[in-house]
Amino acid sequence: MLNIRYEKTATPKELPAKNDPLKFGTIFTDHMFVMDYETVKGWHDARIIPYQPISLDPSAMVFHYGQEMFEGLKAYKTEDGRVLLFRPNKNIERANNTNRRICIPEIPEEDFLQAIKEVVKTDEAWIPTKPGTSLYIRPFIIATDPFLGVRPSDTYKFIIILSPVGAYYPEGLDPVKIWIEDEYVRAVKGGIGEAKTGANYVASLKSQVKAHEEGYSQVLWLDGVNRKYIEEVGAMNIFFKIDGKIVTPVLNGSILPGVTRDSVICLCKEWGLPVEERKIDIAEIKKAYEDGTLEEVFGSGTAAVISPVGQLRWEDTIMQVRDGGIGEYSQKLYDTITGIQLGKEKDILGWTVEV
Ligand SMILES: *Cc1c(COP(=O)(O)O)cnc(C)c1O
Repeated sequence: MLNIRYEKTATPKELPAKNDPLKFGTIFTDHMFVMDYETVKGWHDARIIPYQPISLDPSAMVFHYGQEMFEGLKAYKTEDGRVLLFRPNKNIERANNTNRRICIPEIPEEDFLQAIKEVVKTDEAWIPTKPGTSLYIRPFIIATDPFLGVRPSDTYKFIIILSPVGAYYPEGLDPVKIWIEDEYVRAVKGGIGEAKTGANYVASLKSQVKAHEEGYSQVLWLDGVNRKYIEEVGAMNIFFKIDGKIVTPVLNGSILPGVTRDSVICLCKEWGLPVEERKIDIAEIKKAYEDGTLEEVFGSGTAAVISPVGQLRWEDTIMQVRDGGIGEYSQKLYDTITGIQLGKEKDILGWTVEV
């Protein structure tokens, strides 16, 4: 159990207006959770304090060698006023996997969950209630040793900030156009692709800019060795429905293991749909498209939950999936997962945790 010190803000901010579209990641709540690490003391001085800038030495290691991790999950307000988290233990387990990979000291799982719950409770009034809205929770850890040398830091800061977010698709699910990247790669097995760390995103920026210039909203990565097996989308995992089967790349060490990905797989299995986690050659997708057996394509991730894919572009081939429309399972998965998150659907798999 953490012994959390509280310092409530003396100047609460105005809550966003009820009709504020709440653009993702732009507004932050009144408080944040902070905890420090030093080698001798371990994780200590847990506190919930007013949301504020942090002061760091310019030589802090995070600025130079990128030792940092993050997580992303959401809190939802149910119609009867409860606050629910969606599978937070999966995020916490993944956070510690990331920590181990990039030499950050682990945080005990129960302390991590307590920190999330307490800070969410503190700013509960900030959880929006309109359909599709939620409170995005962003825990992260940074290396703070003032030292210009390459080694794991001896000191860290663990911070949790909160941001009310609007519906990703305010007008209902809207299929996205995806660029299949054949020049740059995101990650390779043995690297840090399966860790949730900023470095993976830096590696992706160049390609994202190129895709945007071409009129595509996201990038689909191929494997870094053969440049032909499908990995994932920028911040989403990817699924295909081919000839009645749900197919998704197997976790191979360079793909981020999404909590939403796991939830999609569990639900499809519940529904009796065949699910295959395996290597997928991009040529197989092109062939399925040409044969007419490529029935649906969708991405999965915390921000959008399910993102139907309307178009894929690989080299000179443009694949228009379902004439750009929304697939049956994309919609059903979206409705079921958001229904569970909002406490409207029966939580048969025991995924929600009340704050
Ligand atoms: C966070 C993330 C995902 C999605 O994971 P969820 O737990 O479903 O939100 C997918 N890919 C990358 C690279 C990510 O960082």
